[in-house]
Amino acid sequence: MTAAAARRERDSTLAPWAVADRQTRGRVHAEPDHPYRGPFQRDRDRIIHCRAFRRLMHKTQVFVAGEGDHFRTRLTHTMEVAQIARTVASCLDLNQDLTEAICLGHDLGHPPFGHAGQAALNRCMANYGGFEHNLQALRIVDTLEHRYPGFPGINLCWETREGLLKRCSRRQARALGDLGERFMRRRQPSLEAQLANVADEIAYNHHDLDDGLRSGLLDPRELMEVRLFRECHEEASGRFPGARRGALASEAIRGMIDRVVSDLIETTGSSLRLAIPGDADAVRGWPGPLVGLGDPVKERHRELARFLTDRLYHHPRMQQEYARGGAVVDALFNHYMSHPEEMPGRHSRARRRDAGQRARAVADYIAGMTDRYASSRCKTLKS
Ligand code: MG
Repeated sequence: MTAAAARRERDSTLAPWAVADRQTRGRVHAEPDHPYRGPFQRDRDRIIHCRAFRRLMHKTQVFVAGEGDHFRTRLTHTMEVAQIARTVASCLDLNQDLTEAICLGHDLGHPPFGHAGQAALNRCMANYGGFEHNLQALRIVDTLEHRYPGFPGINLCWETREGLLKRCSRRQARALGDLGERFMRRRQPSLEAQLANVADEIAYNHHDLDDGLRSGLLDPRELMEVRLFRECHEEASGRFPGARRGALASEAIRGMIDRVVSDLIETTGSSLRLAIPGDADAVRGWPGPLVGLGDPVKERHRELARFLTDRLYHHPRMQQEYARGGAVVDALFNHYMSHPEEMPGRHSRARRRDAGQRARAVADYIAGMTDRYASSRCKTLKS
């Protein structure tokens, strides 16, 4: 089959409002089509092969990486997001390759130590334009990865980059040209990007709950306050009377994901059938997002998120871990700002630049670190 025929066949199975392979606005640096892989398939493959992706393995999701072998890392979180989104994309006839590429790349820009690392780096960068992991993901794929002799970055398609840029201030949007335009004009991204965003929330709410129970930081009795858990737990207990407590909790969480994902498919499917956007660009011009949960499940999902914020993310033990991670980032930033020559390779060229460029180079270097590399660098710092 020729490339063009393969592409036509892929596109013919998509809904009219999906992003078809043939509609891509292309790459910054033009490249010939691949004989049998579509443009978004290639984007997905490029992300899987990049260094920033491999480093997700040793980056914190919620529990500091290395604390326990069974907790999610940013890599396994990323894979769970992709799995959920792919299921939904296939049921709604959206572009699965594009959806998967966005999901696999969505956390590439996360610094070590999860949100504590992001908050610390953003504080350090306060006078130099701040630090935001979505923008950092874009910097990685556009310039920081060095894999191709012909261009910087991994030269992804416009639609994949659109999906990676989940949020952005108006000030930053202005500097991003047509990619930032939707934040200025309050437009929507593609359905595939909207889906990756919701799948992210569904994945972390449920796996953080699972990890929270496993860690012993969450009390299973208190969890009964959360409607979604209680309802699914009661259903599981009815089906498996006498099952072990742990197995029932796992079954309840499985039931929760199934219920939320099924609702997402049904609600989004009916919103689309009602709205009938003509094509992917009509989706972008829609007054609001078209991918989402129905009200009863949305409210339950929010209740779960609030519970996790109060009882897990704000747990004193987690706060202690976060403070430790934030302090590592602070120490590294201050050190490399005064000693840029100690950064490896191209990062160290920053020493010749002004303070703003140096700060950005230091932030790029730190953001790329895994938790364990950051900790070990911090231990060896000479002041
Ligand atoms: Mg995520």
